[in-house]
Amino acid sequence: MSGPRVLILGPPGAGKGTQSSNIADEFDVEHITTGDALRANKDMDISDMDTEYDTPREYMEAGDLVPDAVVNAIVEEALTSADGFVLDGYPRNLEQAEELEGMTDLDVILSLDVSREELVDRLTGRRVCDDCGANYHVEFNQPEEEGVCDECGGELIQRDDDNEESVNNRLDVFEENTLPVIEHYEDDDAFVAIDGEQTPDEVWADIEAAIEDAN
Ligand code: ADP
Ligand code: ADP
Ligand code: ZN
Repeated sequence: MSGPRVLILGPPGAGKGTQSSNIADEFDVEHITTGDALRANKDMDISDMDTEYDTPREYMEAGDLVPDAVVNAIVEEALTSADGFVLDGYPRNLEQAEELEGMTDLDVILSLDVSREELVDRLTGRRVCDDCGANYHVEFNQPEEEGVCDECGGELIQRDDDNEESVNNRLDVFEENTLPVIEHYEDDDAFVAIDGEQTPDEVWADIEAAIEDAN
């Protein structure tokens, strides 16, 4: 049997990355994340796509969306080799949502709800493993040893875009571009709203139940 095809939606800082790792482990599916894919290719030459900047870096540091053509290609490529998956960080606008509809069907559409005030605290305190990408928080989700990844022993760093200015821009970009995507999926039978302000374990329990119900 093939694994579930899961879409996880929510603002920056809602816990998508944290919960996607749980989903990937528990249901043995691939974690497809445009954010990680772009961070690994920040300096790729995209000038042939007729974009304002020549690499993704400038967009990402400012917290603006990287042009659709770049992210659509990343997702299309990742989906062709995935059986089941959890898709995280895409689609971020209605054009991308339309593109995704031509690429795959979805079994579950999760939407994590968190207030803006809480998101700012989560993002400015976020630390990520430089080697494996695991997520931590200086207060809400501390590693066993400060600065060291529990999973792989890698060094924990702060992302360039997790500063207050970029965070606020990302939240504005979310409200303007991505909120309409969530509204677009709300009437879908596969849509499940999740209270993302609970503890990580409580959020996970709701997500696990939603995916099991859908299968
Ligand atoms: P967060 O975890 O804060 O939501 P991500 O790691 O998903 O952030 O994304 C980081 C940055 O990568 C975004 O601010 C944006 O510049 C770029 N990015 C990621 N996904 C997309 C996408 N689907 N469309 C356009 N840009 C994207
Ligand atoms: P996203 O991928 O949606 O941007 P992350 O999974 O990276 O979000 O989580 C953002 C930050 O919030 C991280 O520092 C993470 O450790 C922390 N976090 C995740 N889930 C929770 C939660 N339920 N309660 C408190 N902090 C959380
Ligand atoms: Zn690690």
